[in-house]
Amino acid sequence: MNQDLWTSVERFLTDTLVHPDLALNEAVAANTRTGLPAIDVSPNEGKLLHLLARIQGARRILEIGTLGGYSTIWLARALPPFGRLITLELDPTHASVAAENIERAGLSSLVEIRVGSALESLARLHADKTEPFDLIFLDADKPNNPNYLEWALKLSRPGTVIIGDNVIRDGEILDATSTDASVIGTRTFLERLGSHPRLDATALQTVGNKGYDGFALAIVKNRAARHHS
Ligand code: SAM
Repeated sequence: MNQDLWTSVERFLTDTLVHPDLALNEAVAANTRTGLPAIDVSPNEGKLLHLLARIQGARRILEIGTLGGYSTIWLARALPPFGRLITLELDPTHASVAAENIERAGLSSLVEIRVGSALESLARLHADKTEPFDLIFLDADKPNNPNYLEWALKLSRPGTVIIGDNVIRDGEILDATSTDASVIGTRTFLERLGSHPRLDATALQTVGNKGYDGFALAIVKNRAARHHS
């Protein structure tokens, strides 16, 4: 197994199954042109998010970490015409590139980008007693993932799906002595996903164009539930 093989297989899967269209490809091109880091989800991960949102029947989606809106487009395309996606982004430049990409994809009426620190935006959503979200995607600064998980729980209902990206980090999550804040945040995030009485969770390792990583997936349980459902 090696990186060249993973990249070739990913290209094959993307060409065979995923079929990203012009708006998605133009979003990637705009991100590159404007100097955004190429840390968006891959096409097959984007399609996975899209399919999970459809399986969930999501009407309200919360995304933490917009970048250029590539995952936002995949997720928003799963919404019904009356659906809503709120995406949180710290960097105003990222947010403005995302707004253009989302507009080009014809999704502006479904998507709201909130610019600023995600922790502050989450607190505001909670204070405003926003309706619970059906799916929450955590993909911002990884040291904050344990905090984002707490807010996600406050903004969820039984049955809400919570997804966290980049939870394997080339296997570095095995290192309990790591001083890397992203590794520490991810380990704590995974431990809380696994031990929280309101969550049923798993995580998958992935390989592909962007190397060795993975994502975690959880569902919020009914408050009274004691066992895996
Ligand atoms: N979800 C995007 C995609 O797949 O297309 C990729 C998101 S990228 C991995 C992480 C984003 O989170 C960056 O745009 C970064 O500026 C943003 N970010 C980092 N720290 C943040 C914070 N404290 N609050 C909100 N956004 C933050």
